Amino acid sequence: MFHRVFTLGQLQCNASLLGDEDTREALVIDPGEHPSALIDAIRQGGWRVTEILFTHAHIDHVAGALEVQEFTGAPVAMHPADLGLYESLAEQAAWIGMPAPPRVEISHWLEEGEEIRCGALRLQVLFTPGHAPGHVSFYLAEQAMILSADVLFRGSIGRTDLPGGNHQQLLDSIRAQLLTLPDETRVIAGHGPSTTIGLERRTNPFLLDSSI
Ligand SMILES: [Zn+2]
Ligand SMILES: [Zn+2]
Repeated sequence: MFHRVFTLGQLQCNASLLGDEDTREALVIDPGEHPSALIDAIRQGGWRVTEILFTHAHIDHVAGALEVQEFTGAPVAMHPADLGLYESLAEQAAWIGMPAPPRVEISHWLEEGEEIRCGALRLQVLFTPGHAPGHVSFYLAEQAMILSADVLFRGSIGRTDLPGGNHQQLLDSIRAQLLTLPDETRVIAGHGPSTTIGLERRTNPFLLDSSI
């Protein structure tokens, strides 16, 4: 499996390019903002992007979707519970003082438990709301890796003070969907460094509280 993370835009969102090196098919998970480095890598690698997946519809994760879609021609997928957030991109842009990004057509509505295929890669869609109402994570069991964006960070968890956020729901998502994974599972976070489920289970102060 090919995997590269691109840290993009003013909020330093981690975008991922995941590919099957045999078929040269790839997925973009969160196109981020100002994705020219990601697009360059797609071009240089000769990747055929089969789908662009949103973990959630915060502006820093989706602002560059149209640029990536125009280059790749790939369809875009997200969870329907984040449609309200996606429709509020202009408001989100105003909060952080940037122009409203263009919206792309969503052609695939993700569902909990669904499997996304790309070459030999298999990604399981896990519904992990709390940071955003329709936040999903993508789990690659064979590669022991999860792309869980703004659910869990190294030493921290996603913020829940933005519209649609819910702290208890986030803790429930982490407990039910992430902490049930093997310790060695690598966690690709939406911001900052990657981590593992085991490291966070042992050391994350937000998860050590016995109430979760
Ligand atoms: Zn977010
Ligand atoms: Zn984010």
